[in-house]
Parts: sequence; C-alpha cells; structure tokens
Amino acid sequence: MVHNFNAGPSILPKEVFQQASEAILNFNNMGLSILEIGHRTNEFQAVMDEAQSLVKELMHLDDNKEVLFLHGGASTQFFQVPMNLLDESATAAYLDCGVWGSKAIKEAKLYGNVEVVASSKDSNYTYIPKGYDIAESAVYFHYTTNNTVEGTQMHAIPETNVPLVADMSSDILSTEMDFNRFSLIYAGAQKNIGAAGVNLVIIDKDIPGKVTRRMPTMMDYREHIKNGSMLNTPPVFAVYVCMLTLRWLKKTGGVKAIQQLNEKKAKLLYDTIDSLPIFHAPVAKEDRSLMNAVFTIADADAEKEFLSLCKAANLYGVKGHRSVGGFRVSMYNALPYESVVVLTDLMKDFANKKG
Ligand SMILES: *Cc1c(COP(=O)(O)O)cnc(C)c1O
Repeated sequence: MVHNFNAGPSILPKEVFQQASEAILNFNNMGLSILEIGHRTNEFQAVMDEAQSLVKELMHLDDNKEVLFLHGGASTQFFQVPMNLLDESATAAYLDCGVWGSKAIKEAKLYGNVEVVASSKDSNYTYIPKGYDIAESAVYFHYTTNNTVEGTQMHAIPETNVPLVADMSSDILSTEMDFNRFSLIYAGAQKNIGAAGVNLVIIDKDIPGKVTRRMPTMMDYREHIKNGSMLNTPPVFAVYVCMLTLRWLKKTGGVKAIQQLNEKKAKLLYDTIDSLPIFHAPVAKEDRSLMNAVFTIADADAEKEFLSLCKAANLYGVKGHRSVGGFRVSMYNALPYESVVVLTDLMKDFANKKG
C-alpha cells in the first residue's frame, strides 16, 4: 500500500486510472485507442461535451459562463489573462500571496499597469493579507485561491465590485464556493481534476474583447469560445482524464461531499501537528490550506530521519518545496482519509520516540 501526498502532478482516483488505461487500448469498444481517433469524431465530441457539462453542473455555473479546456498549463494563463483583459494604459489589481501569484504579476506587467494591493512576501507568505483596498478603476482583481507551495488558502471571496479573476489550480472543486462571482477562473488540471497537459478555464462570455491590442488567434479567448474549445486539436487524453475524474466526483457526492472529506483530513493532520511539540506549522491558523499543509521540525537531523521513515512506509511526496523546506503534505480530493491516518500515526510514533 502506498500513500501519495505529491503536490502536482498528484493523486487521482484509482478507478480513473483503470478507465483511462482501458481507453488507451480500446475506447468505447471501438477497437481503437482514444489516442488514435480524430478530435472531431462524435466519440470525442461526446467526451468534450460531458466534461464541460459536468463542470457546469458541479460548480453550479450560470448560463453566461463558458467552460474551456486549453493547452499550456496555468502558467500560460498568467499571460493569456492580461493579454485578453488588460489594455496597455489600464490597471489590474493583484494580490501577492505566494510564488504562483508573483509569477502572474510578473507576466501581467508585460501588458499593462499592475497594482499589487497587498503582499505577504515580507513574512515568507505565511499568511493571507486582509483589509486592503481594491481601486474601483481596476479592470480586474487577480488572486490565487490556494497557495500550493506556502500552504495558505483564501477562505472567503474578497468583497469588491471589480471583476474577479482567480488561479484555482490547487483547490478547484475541493470546497463549495459561489463560482459565479468570478469573471474568469483557471486551473492547471494536474492537481485536483486530471492529468497534466490541460488547463480548465471558466470565463464570462462578455469579459474578453475589450482590449485594443491584436493577438494570436490561439491566445484569443473569443476564438476558443466560438469554437467550443476545439479551435485546434485539444489535449484529447488529458481532457478524457478530466472527464473521468469529474464523473467520479459527481458519483462521490459532488463538491459538498468532497469538502467534508477534505475538512476531515485537514483537521486530523493539523490537530496532530498542533498536539506534537516537535512539529511546527509556520502558517497563520486562520489561513491554513485544506489542500497543502506545510510543517517543519527544528532539528535538521530529525527532519532527515522523519523523511526516511516516510520513505520506508511508502509515503510519497512529504518533502517540502525547495523554496520553503521542511514538509509539505498535499491532500487533494482523491487522497483517502486512511492515508492521513497512516501519516499522523507515523508522526505520533516519531514524536514519542524523540521524547
Ligand atoms: C502548479 C500551479 C501553477 C502552475 O501550473 P502549470 O500547469 O505547471 O503551469 C500555477 N498556479 C498554482 C496555484 C499552482 O499550484
């Protein structure tokens, strides 16, 4: 038995792997692999249609939202968003809560003015800034809902009339939220919804098309909307894996049910950290992430020792991000509660042994 706490690409439901591997050999009993049929066949169109409608259903999206599956990962959205929404003379507001948000800021500056409304960089991004102002004149406000590297998460949607744009790569479909509040949501699939190679983009139909610049066709959201997310060959297999994962999520009870499981997993882990003095969680308690928990041990030898115990017990992905150190444990939707039980039992044993 292995336990997969990888941060991304990361754990998916076992049944999704099973079904995806069957489709590689024989898709829909066609006698052909999903990898060798055209994307404009009825068979693949049905996959795209089902994936899009499952997203709409699971997120309770209004009719003015379009669901796209685009290439390039979340990092492409860092520049595709401002290319489509931010004119050279206009200003977009950004919240700087971590390495991913700061990369988004860097790209946006290539296209227009960026106002960073608040940053927690001074404290190594261990908390989410609060009480900042967002100028009404901003064309959009961008933030990262869950900071994958630093282990913080926004637990409420900021109060503002400025159109909201969010990078939800590492917590999409993990908790209930009024997703209709957002003008644009993007998420690399490889953390909570599928295989690497595709990006989920949920966009208000009327938000793009207001900037004056010209842009390549492939970068223009309107072209993707017009072509039903099939402007060119979509990443067919990655879209298929998303569709299977979305089916699994629906069967599991949807976002509400998965949120309860995610809260239960996170509570067990954080309660364990808080009860054992040898472990320390650097993140502000109210901003702790349900998806990625970061914690440390002060003594470097003990840290190494704990990591080797994890390895021996087949716990994968416990080592922290290279920029933060310590440990990072990712508890995405597909991670079973049992895996957190095994990890926390190991933590308790280790703490006892160390006295
Ligand atoms: C992983 C991650 C990214 C980068 O995703 P890519 O698909 O590798 O470009 C961006 N934002 C967040 C919040 C992430 O967790």
